[in-house]
Amino acid sequence: MDRIDLKSCPPRRIEQLMVTLGHKPFRGRQIAQWIYRHGVNDVQMMTNLSHSLQGLISEQFNLSHIAAYDVVPSTDGSKKYVFHLPDGLSVEGVAIPLENKVTFCLSTQIGCPLGCTFCATGRMGFIRNLRTAEIVDQLLIMKQREATPFPRINVVLMGMGEPLLNYDAVSEFLNIALDQNGLGLSARRITLSTAGVIPSLIRFSQEWPQIQLAVSLNASNQAQRAQLMPLSQKYPLSELLPVLKNYPLPRRRRITIEYVLINEVNDRQDDARQLVRLLGNLRSKVNLIPFNPVINMPEQRPSEKKIEHFGEILRKHKLAVMIRRSRGDDVAAACGQLGEMVHG
Ligand code: SAH
Ligand code: SF4
Repeated sequence: MDRIDLKSCPPRRIEQLMVTLGHKPFRGRQIAQWIYRHGVNDVQMMTNLSHSLQGLISEQFNLSHIAAYDVVPSTDGSKKYVFHLPDGLSVEGVAIPLENKVTFCLSTQIGCPLGCTFCATGRMGFIRNLRTAEIVDQLLIMKQREATPFPRINVVLMGMGEPLLNYDAVSEFLNIALDQNGLGLSARRITLSTAGVIPSLIRFSQEWPQIQLAVSLNASNQAQRAQLMPLSQKYPLSELLPVLKNYPLPRRRRITIEYVLINEVNDRQDDARQLVRLLGNLRSKVNLIPFNPVINMPEQRPSEKKIEHFGEILRKHKLAVMIRRSRGDDVAAACGQLGEMVHG
């Protein structure tokens, strides 16, 4: 049997593992801090542990790490990281610094089975789920390379893949992320983006209501959405919207609605008006994402004027709107372009 990978274990689990080895729980917390706070990958460097305990840990457990990666800087300051995994596959993350904060965009799967027509990752098809340790390591590596003193860190699960289709690994990642002896992030600063896998979304709303939710809506009506996002044939808007309306949101929190604006597809004034009706009494804020071109895809980004106008219609009807200016699109690191270089 494979040895347990400590980097996939929340601090509490590491405490339990130490207890089963006849050690005190606080040893587990120390180990967790080395791994998650200090980014240490070598048990010998855990200097507050005795040599014999170091030996025991190396013998009993695995401490995986992604040893190889490339960094592709974009002219706008964001950086695409291409992580090379031991099985020869690669996966991408993006670091987006902005003033005194940095946003890390992490992948949860290699490829994606949901096949949205406008998305480079979707076009790759599904290759495999990432393990918790592989999600954690994307963050640890980017954090170590990017962190200027004390920046605020935001994490968005918006890279390759559908996080809710890799539920258990993502859930363990969140356990590690929120623990003070783990990554020590605050729930408000973590966003999970989903295409709307309803049963898993309901489970997620019960287990992780404190995590910021983003939903990729991308269409103003069911027929359009079913065409752009095949998943919507199985989980239609008529079922998705009630789930969002009943979402157990913490006070003062809203659901982020992502809407990729594609020229002549879903960018008409009528779409904006239908979207207003759909979102009517939902506590939401709309994130408009101008389509990022993907090699060999016919879709185009609407003109600046059309994008602005679309946003204006929503604002006029009291929706909170943000237009997500694409970052990193010169190195295919923008939304929906991940995977393009490798498989485009
Ligand atoms: N699978 C999840 C999370 C990853 S996709 C989801 O779909 O929500 C992250 C975001 O990128 C989604 O909102 C998606 O709609 C958007 N996106 C996909 N392809 C895009 C493209 N070509 N241009 C702009 N945004 C895109
Ligand atoms: Fe998968 Fe999200 Fe891309 Fe759709 S938009 S194919 S769900 S990664």
